Amino acid sequence: MRKPLVMGNWKMHGSRASVKQLLGGLVREGGYPSVDVVVCPAFVHIPLAVSLCEGSGLGVGAQDCSHMAAGAYTGEVAAEMLVDSGCRWVILGHSERRQYHGESDDMVAAKVAAALAAGLAPVVCVGETRDEREAGEAQYTVARQLQGALRGQSNTRHLVVAYEPVWAIGTGLTATPQEAQAMHAFIREQLADLKGVDAAATRVLYGGSVKPDNAAELFAETDIDGALVGGASLDAQDFQAIVAAARG
Ligand code: PEP
Repeated sequence: MRKPLVMGNWKMHGSRASVKQLLGGLVREGGYPSVDVVVCPAFVHIPLAVSLCEGSGLGVGAQDCSHMAAGAYTGEVAAEMLVDSGCRWVILGHSERRQYHGESDDMVAAKVAAALAAGLAPVVCVGETRDEREAGEAQYTVARQLQGALRGQSNTRHLVVAYEPVWAIGTGLTATPQEAQAMHAFIREQLADLKGVDAAATRVLYGGSVKPDNAAELFAETDIDGALVGGASLDAQDFQAIVAAARG
């Protein structure tokens, strides 16, 4: 049985004041016992988020990390630094990183290796563009990204995969539960073929315009183990409603 996981990707939003306000709405007595809930603020807000989440059951993650362990890499943040700051999770290979920062499958693989070596749970994002879907290449793209990111990894115990069709991110368009389930089942099959991956235990999240009104039907699908949420994670009430849908 896979425990549901709901992650908020806050992207490049927020201030110290808004982080305090948002977490004020999310930290609650008793925590979130039957679901893992994680927020991923910008790097500079991580220490504040970690201190505000302490003892609450809410986890804190980062939106990226360096592929290198340490050294002369100006502007980079190492996975070890994230662990040292209280993070347990890191989003890797998000389509915005692939699109705006030219991240290749090889770079994502190096980041996954760095994250795993440091003890972070990598949340590996995969997903096709609209053109790729229309050309019938969605599965090919997702398989390539998965194999590229996980090639040669021998210990993927903490691995999480997020299926995020690029055409659904921030657009208000969502894959139907059936479309999402079909791809999640395909991802699990692909994971089963990879050495060192426990496909049945690996959580596969859906991401792409998840909102309170579509979350429950997505989570009802067998292979959808939670969500990576962008826009709606910036609103405490909406995010909590999505978490509640994951609890079932
Ligand atoms: C994301 O960026 O990971 C995402 C899923 O964004 P949104 O929920 O806004 O589509």
